[in-house]
Parts: sequence; structure tokens; C-alpha cells
Amino acid sequence: MGFVTRFAPSPTGPLHLGHAYSALLAHDMARVASGTFLLRIEDTDIARSRPEWEAQIFDDLRWLGLDWPEPVLRQSEHLARYDRALDALAARGLIYPCSCTRADIRAALSAPQEGVETPPLYPGTCRHRPMSDRKEGDALRLDLARSIDALPGGAAGLGAFTETGPCHPGVHPVTADILASDHGDAVLGRKQIGTVSYVLAAVLDDAAQGITEVVRGADLYQITFLQVLLQKLLQLSTPTYHHHRLIRDETGKRLAKRDDARALARYRAEGASPADIRRMVGLAP
Ligand code: GLU
Repeated sequence: MGFVTRFAPSPTGPLHLGHAYSALLAHDMARVASGTFLLRIEDTDIARSRPEWEAQIFDDLRWLGLDWPEPVLRQSEHLARYDRALDALAARGLIYPCSCTRADIRAALSAPQEGVETPPLYPGTCRHRPMSDRKEGDALRLDLARSIDALPGGAAGLGAFTETGPCHPGVHPVTADILASDHGDAVLGRKQIGTVSYVLAAVLDDAAQGITEVVRGADLYQITFLQVLLQKLLQLSTPTYHHHRLIRDETGKRLAKRDDARALARYRAEGASPADIRRMVGLAP
């Protein structure tokens, strides 16, 4: 199987230097491996995604010199497919409806980011509720214990993933303890905000697009354990992961979408070249 990687931004703000690093690194790695670099638009958060941010993403990435095959997968066009995966998990009794604290649920739907507080572990208040009790606006949570039990071999079937990035290189076994302490009963979907959470949509699309190497920021390392569980439950193969260092500002803080000062568009407007951007993020010319 050839090397296939992707850059998967959410069009909820301007791309900044951290995104440029991620996209350039993935593109470089694909070129070295004579592989394929894909662009995927993760716009399942309907409330925050904007077509103008998406257009800016295309424009910034082309300006950086990146290319990718068309058509680009836009997740908002695949909601029915994600829904089917949720239905399949529901049919196996592995998810349940949850009406607990909405702010936590909303936060749990997006990809995690360093500096953005992760919701506390869910105590399981709604775990007894059957799917037939689902109400409009309820979140759908994975029943972690039942999901592990449902794997062939139980916890022994959780497997492992290979990490090639600089922060945690090696083979990482996925254990019931790590899943319970870091993820608990994770939110996999909710009707009104987008049918599906980042964590599930990304797993489904990595499989649908034949991704062999996921290249992304180190703030997504921990969620990989949960994504491997979902791969096992849905009988999808596990790619290799490469979590790269984060690009930080001079105070050591990870750059975020709200840091407009480091938006690529801003550097472009000030006359920076793509080569300048490569140099600023520490990539060889
Ligand atoms: N859409 C995610 C983000 O912008 C990317 C997650 C991933 O690469 O798996 O943070």
C-alpha cells in the first residue's frame, strides 16, 4: 500500500503558522515517500464553519505551493454516512442518548486543542437510557465498557498504534485504563450541531480515504487512543500516526485560530514569501 496522508482543517477561522507547518510537513512527507497528499475539509460544526474560511484555506495552501487531488472531501456532504455508523453502533447497544450539560457536549464534539480545556470525564448519568428514549438535541455517547466488551477478545482486542512523530515515538498499546481515565463515555454525535463529532468523522474518513499516515499536531496525540478503539469497533484499519511539535508564539503558547496576528493571510499581505513561511516554521527550503 502506498503512502497516503491528509491535511484536515476545519474552516472556522484563518489558517496560521501552525496549520502551515502541519500542511507543509504532510505534503513534504508524501513527496519524499512518492505518496499522496489529500486535503479534507472538516466542516461538521455547522454553526462555526464558513464558506469564506474554506475559500481562504484553498487560497493559502495553493499560495504555499501545495497541490492535492480533486475533488476534496467536504465532511458536511457526508453526514448520512456518519449517521449510518452511529446507527450501526446503536444497533449493537454501544451508544446511548445523553442530555447532560450542553457546554461540555459542545466542547466534546470538536477536535481537542492544547490550551482549550477538555470537558471533564462523564460520570455516566444517562448510561441507562436506551436509544428509543432519544430526544431532539440529545448527544450520543459511546458506552466505553460495553464497547470494550464487544471487541473480539475484549480489552485484549484493543491493539496498538505506531507513532513516528518526535514526541512519543514507538508502539503504543491502547488499554482499557487509558481509555477510562482519558476519554470515558465520549460524545460521538449530536443532531443540531452536526450529526457527528470530530473524533468519529475523522476515523471514518481516514478509512474511507485510505489514509496510511496521519500527520497532525501533538495536541491530537491523546485522542488517538479513542480513535483506535473506534477503528476496532468499526473494523477499520489503523493508520500510522505522526504527531508533530506545535508552533508556539514567543510566550510558548500554541497558536490558535483567534491569533489573527499569525494568520497566513496577514504574512502574505505584509509581503512574506512561501519560502519565508517555511523558514519561520523550521522547515528546510
Ligand atoms: N479538523 C481537525 C482540526 O482542525 C484536524 C484533526 C486531525 O487532523 O485529525 O484540528
